[in-house]
Amino acid sequence: MARASSRTGTQPVGGMPVAAAEARGEAPDWTRRPHVVTWEVTRACQLHCRHCRARAIRRRDPAELSAVEVQAVLDDLAHGFERPPVVVLTGGDPLERDDLDAIIGAAVTRGLAVSIAPSVTPRLSADVLRRWRALGVVSVALSLDGAGPEVHDRFRGVAGTFVRTMELAQTAVGLGLRLQINTSVATDTVGGLAATGARVLELGATSWECFFVIPTGRARPQDCLAAPELERTLGWLAAWAERVAFRVTAVGAPQFVRVATARHPTAEPARPIVREARGFAFIDHRGAVMPSGYLPVAGGSVRRQPLSTVYRDAELFRALRDPGRLRGGCGGCVYRELCGGSRARAYALTGDWLAADPGCPLALEPVEPARG
Ligand code: SF4
Repeated sequence: MARASSRTGTQPVGGMPVAAAEARGEAPDWTRRPHVVTWEVTRACQLHCRHCRARAIRRRDPAELSAVEVQAVLDDLAHGFERPPVVVLTGGDPLERDDLDAIIGAAVTRGLAVSIAPSVTPRLSADVLRRWRALGVVSVALSLDGAGPEVHDRFRGVAGTFVRTMELAQTAVGLGLRLQINTSVATDTVGGLAATGARVLELGATSWECFFVIPTGRARPQDCLAAPELERTLGWLAAWAERVAFRVTAVGAPQFVRVATARHPTAEPARPIVREARGFAFIDHRGAVMPSGYLPVAGGSVRRQPLSTVYRDAELFRALRDPGRLRGGCGGCVYRELCGGSRARAYALTGDWLAADPGCPLALEPVEPARG
């Protein structure tokens, strides 16, 4: 069941190794380590997706991280934290890097769990998936924005992408790879979300990540759900998630934890969710370390210091982790610790990453300042 998790707690774990604390059922300490690091190994991509966060480009940027720089980042990811994060290699299209297999091999050799989020282009084939499986890749994330080609192909900008996505998803599952389906939730896809969910179920995915579109990159404010519709969609998603046996998450909508928890008021309190700078970090193709790919503000660069240092110490990351620094409706909200709002949406729509999340109805209501 994909319910909101059952414990609260963002308190430090008293100097004990985080892994040991977690083994005893205590909450992970996201001030010390990320759960996931998503890494844009290149910005090149041959698709032209409507809401592309990265504004992907056709050719590789000569300034992207070199093979030597990549090794240093992998060393830090493997050894810079008490427990290494899951590493998601993304783009652009990671297959545009001709040294991708070497990167995967070096990551796996260092004991890192690797997931890949490729674009569905002629470069991606059953043979590539087989090779990744042999190299030790754990999971593959494919995008599916609608239940049929009408929506998906229009969204991805290339006819035939839907059919190939379905074929490759089935191949991935057949090879024993964990399959994650990513769905962009925008004004032009939300109507088909139930049908897309049915496809995800039928494919045998282990995870469905619904990306509530943030107006960054090629996405525009009018592509994004307004607060009431976003809230309704989260309610539907929370109910749907309880009927399936795999993980369902709402990226860009941390209020999902509030909505999911409200369905079971007598259950134990939920844990704060992973979000920007709090369990999550992003490396762009030139090495900038950001709280998220949707919050394009750098806390540092792996060209100057390790990601582990930026994650723990950069003022931007520390501020984003501190619910006491939130402003407006989120700052006064009783859920500010549990949820905290999408800092990416706040930044995209107001220019202030600590402002209220304009995608949440509670953030738009006048509230009393929270105590404590
Ligand atoms: S007001 Fe902000 S902190 Fe409260 S539930 Fe909404 S988004 Fe989350």
